Amino acid sequence: MPSKEIGKNLYLVELETGGLKNLICSYVIKGDKAIIVESGPTSSVPKLVSGLEELNIKFEDVEYVAVTHVHLDHGGGAGTLLSYLPNAKVIVHPKGMPHLVNPDRLWSSAQEVLGFVSEIFGKPESVPKERIIPVTEGSFDLAGDAKLKVIETLGHASHSLSFFESLNNGVFPGDAAGTYFPEFDVVMPTTPPPFRLDAELASLDKLISLNPANLYYSHFGKASNGVQRLKDYKVQLHLWAKIAGDGVSRNQSLEEIRERIIAEDKVMRQLADYLKSHRIYSKTALGNSVQGFIDYAKQIQGNKSP
Ligand SMILES: [Zn+2]
Repeated sequence: MPSKEIGKNLYLVELETGGLKNLICSYVIKGDKAIIVESGPTSSVPKLVSGLEELNIKFEDVEYVAVTHVHLDHGGGAGTLLSYLPNAKVIVHPKGMPHLVNPDRLWSSAQEVLGFVSEIFGKPESVPKERIIPVTEGSFDLAGDAKLKVIETLGHASHSLSFFESLNNGVFPGDAAGTYFPEFDVVMPTTPPPFRLDAELASLDKLISLNPANLYYSHFGKASNGVQRLKDYKVQLHLWAKIAGDGVSRNQSLEEIRERIIAEDKVMRQLADYLKSHRIYSKTALGNSVQGFIDYAKQIQGNKSP
């Protein structure tokens, strides 16, 4: 049973990417037509398709596949998924669109940055240009009067979108609100290079102003107390920025900065052992997210020096 009802007309599909649970999920909003939020990676498309079958959703009734951004774990599977869905169009940020049409560069840079993890996610297939709707704002009809609203939330990537659904008052932030660990009920930063702290903080303010009751994390699952979680995430980002900024000015290594983050962030103290032994998070969470802050700090400090 990959799918689970998590709200009115709203379902989570566990993608079990690489055989790992609680790592990546897609969401399905079932109204007169259906909308999928996040295709997930190419390798997980069969799982998502069996989730649709389980929910009795006819493939021709899927109207949109909305992707928060084109990173392999979020939008990588869009091309493969569309081959099942004859009428669906992909909603994506205009800057993400070229990477869906021609994923070659995205794939080679993912292989460089993610190494073996990119093989677990799988190579993206191209999305036909005419099946893409590029947007930075606007809204799409759900069931009844309910809408799916598009919000541009840059910072994690230069082309990140979030989606607000008015059926249950919730936000799909993609990676703009961090990674949620349901086993621990905590969030950690998802901030690989080229991370932009200033843009990310502004994006979080946009999401807070929507006053969401729920957040639907792509990694992983539904969490309540949406506004408080977004505010807490801002505090956590400021703490990491302070440690990374201080570390960079003292020429500390990534390892030294990471150990200080683990020592000073109580969430990271809680998660450290779990992350270190995790097949994918040991690579992505502990390495790349800290590097994103280091690169950002270097850029800021570089700009300030004469
Ligand atoms: Zn992600």
